[in-house]
Amino acid sequence: MPIERIIQGLTEFQDNYFSTHQEFFQLLSLKQAPEVLLITCSDSRIDPNLLTQTKPGELFVIRNIGNMIPPHGTLNSSEGAGIEYAVAALNIKHIIICGHSHCGSMKALLQLNKLNEDMPLVYDWLKHHGEPIRRLLKENHKDCDEAELLRIAIEENVLTQIENLKTYPVIHLSLGRKPPATQGEECLLRSILALDIFLKSFNSYTATTCYKITRCPKNFFAPVILL
Ligand SMILES: [Zn+2]
Repeated sequence: MPIERIIQGLTEFQDNYFSTHQEFFQLLSLKQAPEVLLITCSDSRIDPNLLTQTKPGELFVIRNIGNMIPPHGTLNSSEGAGIEYAVAALNIKHIIICGHSHCGSMKALLQLNKLNEDMPLVYDWLKHHGEPIRRLLKENHKDCDEAELLRIAIEENVLTQIENLKTYPVIHLSLGRKPPATQGEECLLRSILALDIFLKSFNSYTATTCYKITRCPKNFFAPVILL
């Protein structure tokens, strides 16, 4: 894609969309108040707003290679800072961890040694944060074929990241907090949902599995999000 297309897109946005939605952008300039933190992969095929049909200002998004959350205590983790800010400052109520099929990071994790020389930084990231998944696959799913291994890796990765998420004091506190007497909009983290999205094609997304954390008060679960 030539860079001119990006510049042209920006110009079109400013001339057309922005100018016809000025009131909306004026409101956005005052503050952000998203209720959802969405954690997903950097994969270019995932467009969080398109996928969830939301507008600017409705999702706080953390993205990285393989939608991974380093556990609390990892030095200088931008993911940790993002999670803390989302929960403590923005009072977000739902966290979605969104994995996806055909994930290049998970494919790479299955052939990790090949990466060591060519992409040492990617290797380090996956080796460090993907080790529990790699080990689990090695020990429990030795006989699976490649496609099945990838499917399991994608699912286990999402589940592993939920566990890592729970190591953050700010999450721990929010989950343990009692619901308010009235169902107001106090800063209660209502639910953590993890979505495993299987990309059947570039045009259609379906969620085949959803996982919930059951530690939240039952009546405070948001409905499972199905795409
Ligand atoms: Zn991916």
